[in-house]
Amino acid sequence: MDRTFFVDFDGTITTLDTTAAMMQAFVREADRPAVMRISSLWEKKQLSTRECANRIFTYFHAEPGDMVRLLESIEIDESFPRFLDACIRAKDRVHVLSDGFDLCILTVFSQHGIDVPYYANTLIYEAGFTMECPHANHECGHCGVCKTTLMERLKEPSHRSVYIGDGYSDACPARHADMVFAKEPLHTLCREGGVDARRFASFDEIVERLYGAP
Ligand SMILES: [Mg+2]
Ligand SMILES: [Zn+2]
Repeated sequence: MDRTFFVDFDGTITTLDTTAAMMQAFVREADRPAVMRISSLWEKKQLSTRECANRIFTYFHAEPGDMVRLLESIEIDESFPRFLDACIRAKDRVHVLSDGFDLCILTVFSQHGIDVPYYANTLIYEAGFTMECPHANHECGHCGVCKTTLMERLKEPSHRSVYIGDGYSDACPARHADMVFAKEPLHTLCREGGVDARRFASFDEIVERLYGAP
């Protein structure tokens, strides 16, 4: 059966979470506790992605050029391009679903010569950063990019869906996928929610498991 892969970006394709790297680089030390409190409210679903990002941006000291320079230094799992090659050979599909920012994915992918369809929030700069959410779902109300809604819309009825992710925004779509590969904390969230997820550290392991040797 053909597969459609839905792949998270931050911490799944990249080795570091780009949002965390931006907070590290652009939020003053003294403001970090306030920013961490905002993030933990988001993790507990007491703030939507949009409210969370727009509150955190008020603490940012950066312009788009600073952002791009930081993003160009972000590393990816070096086996991700091999995974894409294996998917192309097998005529399987890949969509990247991120509750982060379009600029992050665009910059990192062009830096590494990667061309895959992706869905993310829109980063806007007008004297300061803000975020818009073109892929939100009103019924969900929490996600910026509602990955579950997109997955259900993008999956071909005859395909098996495979979800690959690592974080809080991956827990809901993982429940709706036919197969799940997870890093932490997603692996624990899946286990607690009774979702069968296979732990993975690199895309080579996924290729080996699904297609034989990379
Ligand atoms: Mg992630
Ligand atoms: Zn949602």
